[in-house]
Amino acid sequence: MSTLEERLAPRPEWPHASRPGEPADRSTHVLTGSPTVDISVVVPVYNEEAGLHQLFARLYPALDAITMARGLRYEIVFVNDGSRDRSAAILSDQFRARPDVTRVVLFNANYGQHAAIMAGFERVRGRFIVTLDADLQNPPEEIARLIDAMEAGHDYVGTIRRARKDSAWRKTASRAMNRIRERITHITMTDQGCMLRAYDRRIVETINQCREINTFIPALAYTFANNPVEIEVGHAERAAGESKYSLYALIRLNFDLVTGFSVVPLQAFSLFGALLSAASAVLVVWLALRRIFVGPEAEGLFTLFGIAFFLIGVTLLGIGLLGEYIGRIYEEVRGRPRWIVQAVIERDAPAADQNAADQRAAKQ
Ligand code: UDP
Ligand code: MG
Repeated sequence: MSTLEERLAPRPEWPHASRPGEPADRSTHVLTGSPTVDISVVVPVYNEEAGLHQLFARLYPALDAITMARGLRYEIVFVNDGSRDRSAAILSDQFRARPDVTRVVLFNANYGQHAAIMAGFERVRGRFIVTLDADLQNPPEEIARLIDAMEAGHDYVGTIRRARKDSAWRKTASRAMNRIRERITHITMTDQGCMLRAYDRRIVETINQCREINTFIPALAYTFANNPVEIEVGHAERAAGESKYSLYALIRLNFDLVTGFSVVPLQAFSLFGALLSAASAVLVVWLALRRIFVGPEAEGLFTLFGIAFFLIGVTLLGIGLLGEYIGRIYEEVRGRPRWIVQAVIERDAPAADQNAADQRAAKQ
C-alpha cells in the first residue's frame, strides 16, 4: 500500500501537476530546447482502427519522399485520444515498424481532438509542425506544399479545402459558423474546419504556454502568427470509419471557438438588453398615457403573454451565455491537469540521429 504522501506526489506523466498546497506551476511545459528534426507531424487518433493502416501506407511514403528530396528529417507524433478500439495497439505496432520516426503519446481517456494536438505539441522536436487528421480526408502528399510555404518564410500556413467532401448540412453549417466567427473574433480563416496546417516552432512554443482548456488550435495559432498565409488543399471522403464529431460535439466546439476567443457575445447581449429596456420604457410611458386619456383597458392580454415569453427567452439565453463564460473560468481556476498521459512510446535517442541513418540504410 502506498502512503497518502506517495499517492499525492506529482507523477512524471502529469507535466502540470503540483504537490497539494503548492501553486500549480502554470508556466512549465515539456517542449524545451532547439529543434532536432525539421518536420513534426502531429496526428490525433480516436477510434480510427479501420483506417490507420491506410494512413500509414500513405503518410510514411509521402514524408519519406518529401524529406529525402530536400535532405530534411521528420518525425510523426501520434496522440491516441483514449480510443476504445484497437487504435493504441495498432499505433504501438507501427512504432515497432518505424521506431526511427514514430512516437506515440497515449492518453488515459478521451480529452478531445484539440487537447490531443496540444499534447503532441508539447513533445514535438521539429522546426515546422504540421497537424493532420487520421482519416485521410486531407492527402498527406499535400504536406510538401505546406513545407514550401513555410520555407518561403511564412510562420503559419492555413488551408482551404478544395471541393470539400462532407455532407451538405455540415458544409452549410460550417459556412454560417465561419461567417459568425469572423465577425466576432476578427480571426481570418477562410475554412476553419480544415486541420491540415503548418506552424512554426515559435508559434507552437507560444501555444504551449497557453494553459486554456477547451481551445481551438488554428485560431489560437493565428492570433500569434506574424506572417500567415492560406493555401488550397485537396479533400476526400473519410477513408474508413465515420466522423468522430456528433452534432453535439460540433456545437460545443463552435461555442468554444466563439467564447474562447471573444467576449463580443457578452457585449452584444448587454447592448441588446439596453435597447430592450429603452423600448420597454417607451411602452410603459405609452401605456400610462393611454391609462390617463383612454381609461382602463383589459384587452391585449395575449400580446402581453407574447412579450413576456419573448423576454423570458431572452433572459434565459443571457443566463446560458454567462454560464458558458463562467464554465470556462471555472475550468481554468480549478487548474487541474488538462489531460493525463498514460505512456509515451518513443526511442530514447532523439529521432534526429536515427532518422537520417535509417533512411540511408533503407535505401541500400
Ligand atoms: N479526434 C480525436 N478526439 C476526438 C474526436 C476526434 O482525436 O474526440 C480525431 C480523429 O481521430 C481524427 C480527427 O480528430 O483524426 C478529426 O476527426 P473527424 O475526422 O471525426 O472529424 P470531421 O472530419 O468529421 O470534422
Ligand atoms: Mg475527418
